[in-house]
Amino acid sequence: MTTFSDLGLAEPFLRAVEAEGYTDPTPIQSKVIPEILNGRDVLGIAQTGTGKTASFVLPLLHAIAGDKRRADKKTCRALVLVPTRELAAQVADSVRTYGRFARVTSTVIVGGVKPGPQVRALANGVDIVIATPGRLEDHLGGRAIRLDGTEAVVLDEADQMLDLGFLPAVRRILGKLPRERQTVLLSATMPKQIRGLASDFLNRPAEISVAPTARPIERIDQSVMHMDKAAKRTALVDILAGADVERAIVFTRTKRGADRVSKHLLDAGLSAAAIHGDKSQGQRQQALAAFRNDRVRILVATDIAARGIDIDDVSHVINFELPNVPEAYVHRIGRTARAGKSGIAVSLCDPDERGLLRDIERLIGRAIGSEGDALPTERHSRRPKRRAEARSVEERSGDKPPRRRRRSRNGKSSAKGEAPQSRRFGKAGPEAAGDGLSRMLGNIGSRSDAGASASTNT
Ligand code: AMP
Repeated sequence: MTTFSDLGLAEPFLRAVEAEGYTDPTPIQSKVIPEILNGRDVLGIAQTGTGKTASFVLPLLHAIAGDKRRADKKTCRALVLVPTRELAAQVADSVRTYGRFARVTSTVIVGGVKPGPQVRALANGVDIVIATPGRLEDHLGGRAIRLDGTEAVVLDEADQMLDLGFLPAVRRILGKLPRERQTVLLSATMPKQIRGLASDFLNRPAEISVAPTARPIERIDQSVMHMDKAAKRTALVDILAGADVERAIVFTRTKRGADRVSKHLLDAGLSAAAIHGDKSQGQRQQALAAFRNDRVRILVATDIAARGIDIDDVSHVINFELPNVPEAYVHRIGRTARAGKSGIAVSLCDPDERGLLRDIERLIGRAIGSEGDALPTERHSRRPKRRAEARSVEERSGDKPPRRRRRSRNGKSSAKGEAPQSRRFGKAGPEAAGDGLSRMLGNIGSRSDAGASASTNT
């Protein structure tokens, strides 16, 4: 069994993972960490819940801390592009957590908040910038940041960026980075546009695939309860009042639905909060913090708002309404059974949703067992429009919807051959780590300033 120290990570990071209680690397970590440390590009298929965040955050931190160079003014040494502000906050959290015994600076650049503090955070240069594409482009346009010295870029949840219409922006951003750089692309699925992105911008990547969709689902006890729409609220309260419910996320299709359900739960004496895109960033963070700290036991969320929520110990996921897009079902129930635990997912299905249930069952390749009163199966001619829920870019990323621009040709990297390694973090890889390590050991005990700048900007 591989250990974290076998992977070549320096002591401050071994200490940080130990402090987190991780005993062994997850499969994606065992595969991705050595490749990044060696300076290779990586194309990874991995979903949330597999430990994918640490798989790129740890080697980035190792490389940056192992090489004393400072970022120049208005530049960053590594860029992490993410689809949503929630995911940005979580990646920043991981940078803070895993970097707590090293000196690495980071900041978050997302929409939905004032740009001024972000401009100031970038002014002196930052080691790691975690950004959503729209706001990053705004800052590139305003010359608050340039990327011509950036050594590594990570595209996290690339398929979500595609879904949100960010691909043209991502291509433009990648076109602004130096050709000699390290590129890591992680995606839960590999649609052909993402393959295309990888072949245009990655240089002979190590292709790594772990935990196919079915794996986390196997640990989830899934069931469906058939009932009329009008019976759902009472059923929901009954389920959530159950003694076995430690922490639950309830999914609705719409923002108004989330508000209504949350109010109903509060009226029934349960502790609940709603999170969705109409809430301010502050309200969303507050609700998440309350949920994380056990002050609120039930989070009512839309698919969009819940993307990237990474909270362990969610015992139940309840689908108050089935999602219009079957893939969203997999994302939803993946909020439970995290970090090796098991979980329970219950879907309340009214007669109008039977078609959606069939789509989901087709996607996951099996029928979901039913509980409670089964209604006779009917055929329903009226199917909700696919992707009917406003997949508003603003709601997820805080960014303005992508502007329509002509795709520029120079967004394409032509560096398909063996790229010189000089700028790559590989220089600080396992072979070079000894050097970086001894320098870093001098820093042990010094507080990371990663957290300070990250937290002021989330
Ligand atoms: P991610 O896939 O990055 O969203 O991570 C999912 C969860 O796994 C997070 O709560 C991490 O804290 C946790 N995690 C990451 N790496 C490990 C590990 N090696 N051992 C145990 N838990 C981990």
